[in-house]
Amino acid sequence: MSILVMEKSKALVLLSGGQDSVTCLAWALTHFSWVETIGFDYGQRHNIELDCRKKILTLVRQRFPEWQQRLGEDHLIEMKALGQISDTALTKNTEIMLNHNGLPNTFVPGRNILFLTMAAAVAYRRGLSILVGGMCETDYSGYPDCRDDAIKSLQVSLNIGMATKICIETPLMWLNKEQIWNLANTLGGHNLLELIRTETHSCYLGERNHLHAWGFGCGTCPACQLRACGYTSYLTRKP
Ligand code: ZN
Repeated sequence: MSILVMEKSKALVLLSGGQDSVTCLAWALTHFSWVETIGFDYGQRHNIELDCRKKILTLVRQRFPEWQQRLGEDHLIEMKALGQISDTALTKNTEIMLNHNGLPNTFVPGRNILFLTMAAAVAYRRGLSILVGGMCETDYSGYPDCRDDAIKSLQVSLNIGMATKICIETPLMWLNKEQIWNLANTLGGHNLLELIRTETHSCYLGERNHLHAWGFGCGTCPACQLRACGYTSYLTRKP
């Protein structure tokens, strides 16, 4: 997509309240003239993510005047059915471990497919032509619906099924966590880094009592470990 087309485009960002989705929000606010956000209440084990995303949207409006005018409506969609039909460590209070197929039990089957499909329907109604998601192949636990092929194929299916030309942008697809911290710094400098460090939530266990150098979390679950390692590498290598 050319820079000129991007600047005139309107986007819908999938915002969960985690580090990756907030970096995607900043990326969209830098590139597009109008940005709306969408989040999903699917019976997550913890309500913390949903509280975080609400506060983050308020803080982005307060602390980034250059983005304030581009940031439009937030859509919170209730999808409790996802919690009913799946049995995973993100929706049930069970220990995080690997399933027999090699995928962690934090994988919610079909989650990203459902989220992107719901987002495309909202984008259709709102006249938004871009979806932005924080899916990433590089660091994560091999969730199949985060892979580039899955996203590209879904984009084709959605556009055939809705007679649209919606584009799914995944700016983090080939970045590791260190590079994602670095991207945040490039997009919004120290202010954005601090907002992501102190206000986003990634911890699978919902731990938010202790602020580490890299943010809140238990420090031991896979999400905390990735986030912490990435932050340490970023600090070590930044110029
Ligand atoms: Zn954790």
